[in-house]
Amino acid sequence: MSTFTELGLNDEILKALQDLGYEKPSEIQEKAVPQVINSTDDLKAFAQTGTGKTAAFSLPILQLLDAKSKNTQAIILSPTRELAVQIGNNIKEFSKYMKGVNVLTVYGGANIDEQIRGLRKGVQIVVGTPGRTVDLIKRRQLHLDNVKWLILDEADEMLNMGFKDELDQVLEVTPDEKQTLLFSATFPREVEAIARNYMHNPIEITAGQKNTGSDNVSNEYYVVTERNRYPALKRICDANPDVYGIIFCRTKRETAQVAENLMQDGYNADALHGDLSQSQRDAVMQKFRNKTLQILVATDVAARGLDVNSLTHVINYKLPDQTEAYTHRSGRTGRAGNKGISIALITNKEVGRLRPIERKINKKFEKKEVPSGEEICKSQLFSLIDNVKKTEVNHEQIDSYLETIYSSLEGLEREELIQKFVSVEFNKFLKYYTNSRDLNVAERERGRDDRGKARDDENMSRFFINLGRKDDLNPGKLIGLINQQNITNNVEIGQIEILDTFSFFELDKNFTDETITAFTDATFNGRNVNVEITEKRKRSGGGRREDRRGRGRRFEGGRREDRRSDRRKGGSGNYDKNKSGKSYGPDRSDRRSADKPDRSAGFGRRRS
Ligand code: ADP
Ligand code: MG
Repeated sequence: MSTFTELGLNDEILKALQDLGYEKPSEIQEKAVPQVINSTDDLKAFAQTGTGKTAAFSLPILQLLDAKSKNTQAIILSPTRELAVQIGNNIKEFSKYMKGVNVLTVYGGANIDEQIRGLRKGVQIVVGTPGRTVDLIKRRQLHLDNVKWLILDEADEMLNMGFKDELDQVLEVTPDEKQTLLFSATFPREVEAIARNYMHNPIEITAGQKNTGSDNVSNEYYVVTERNRYPALKRICDANPDVYGIIFCRTKRETAQVAENLMQDGYNADALHGDLSQSQRDAVMQKFRNKTLQILVATDVAARGLDVNSLTHVINYKLPDQTEAYTHRSGRTGRAGNKGISIALITNKEVGRLRPIERKINKKFEKKEVPSGEEICKSQLFSLIDNVKKTEVNHEQIDSYLETIYSSLEGLEREELIQKFVSVEFNKFLKYYTNSRDLNVAERERGRDDRGKARDDENMSRFFINLGRKDDLNPGKLIGLINQQNITNNVEIGQIEILDTFSFFELDKNFTDETITAFTDATFNGRNVNVEITEKRKRSGGGRREDRRGRGRRFEGGRREDRRSDRRKGGSGNYDKNKSGKSYGPDRSDRRSADKPDRSAGFGRRRS
């Protein structure tokens, strides 16, 4: 194992690395740095995520750079703005003791004039997203005719995102004798295509095993029904009160929805996807990096390459379409020597999709059980106690109130006092998780239709409504009608039963009165609506398990498609008109066009 000095780096760089706490080079740095310093051959370099590829290409360039010349000598392309900013910042840190070295990051969504002013000062290294880079070339503000190095970071993603034209245009204006460096964690076909099209007899170096997941990441999966995907997600978060992680969704729409639901449910979460403005994305990333934000819900594109250290979890809310993407997702955790957990929430239908991933990462997934309400309450309670112990008292702020507080709590025993204080924080969990259901699905039930299971839920009230099929009511319209009443922000809707002239629906028991009140003046197609609380359905068979009861009774008295048991979140914003059509199955909704995977990030892409 060599040192950074032995790799041939100058004192200024070594000093900066020391400041950053980089003690010795990682394997990819050990291999790539001398290679680039000593050879002008093109290079394909592969190393797992989180192994320091940024420094592997930046350090040799800084070493070789002519700081006296103001010409742009290196252009680094990266697929997203966040990643470009991250690389730019890294290079600034590496070069902080080097005199006269200027680095500029250029990306869309930000003021181009400011970037042009930056370029005019003379920058040796430009980090950019393909779109903005081409824009600046066309405006004759960015001159790449003296470029010695072209670096493609996460190149496969740039092609995935439809940046082939931009890559071609950048290439066209760079000199033939430049050195092209390609860095990637995975090795999909796209990367081969780039190597063929853009590189001359590249040298290939690999650190660790190609395409494999990090050893620091353990991979776990939970089998749930489609309907329970979100509740299971919440339980996993609740069971890990100190979670600091990224939840990956497949589409922008799903990302926005999951983030919104989590926020409404009181989690410290926010979304990152291509439909957000640059300033929104910046704000979210800043909160996430400084840990003000605990949970980032993101699309693959938005979170590619992001280097946020010490993430505890990566959660695959849905598995990615492409196996490669799992490696990129799970690689957001377990970075720089830390340990991390990558979780996949899957339905029985998706169990088969784990195998190809396991082959790729060369590791097995471990099956986990969705935590029970009791387990969650326990971990929340201990975390609360832990926090209490760790909390420092701010005497300056609190002392003046203490006397009043003491006197108002007078007469309470120590034990009683502790019990009360803990309950203040903890009751919401106890309440939420009382009689909570088991969300696990036995794996052998593979392929069973999620909708085929009736639930009988203690937490639901059953309501009668004086509208039925004859009034043109269907489950979708009923959900819409319920949402229109704004009963509460996030009311949970249970089973729906549409009959000819009247119907039934279930709603969160805690809002029974609110529901009745909300419907007082409601109308539907000009008809006055009447909603009343009604008895829960009578159950047959005495001694069987709760959640099994009612099975087989589901379709009695109504056509199959009129029964709906997959729960949807309420809140007017969530009602989706598409849902009022003929199909309600969760799988079908995934295929709606607006739910295409987020491969756009705001620009045209080749593939979907
Ligand atoms: P990759 O691009 O391979 O996914 P990054 O370049 O983003 O990885 O680096 C991952 C993390 O490891 C960063 O936080 C970086 O600062 C840190 N790092 C890189 N090289 C070293 C090193 N030699 N010693 C310590 N930390 C390092
Ligand atoms: Mg990287």
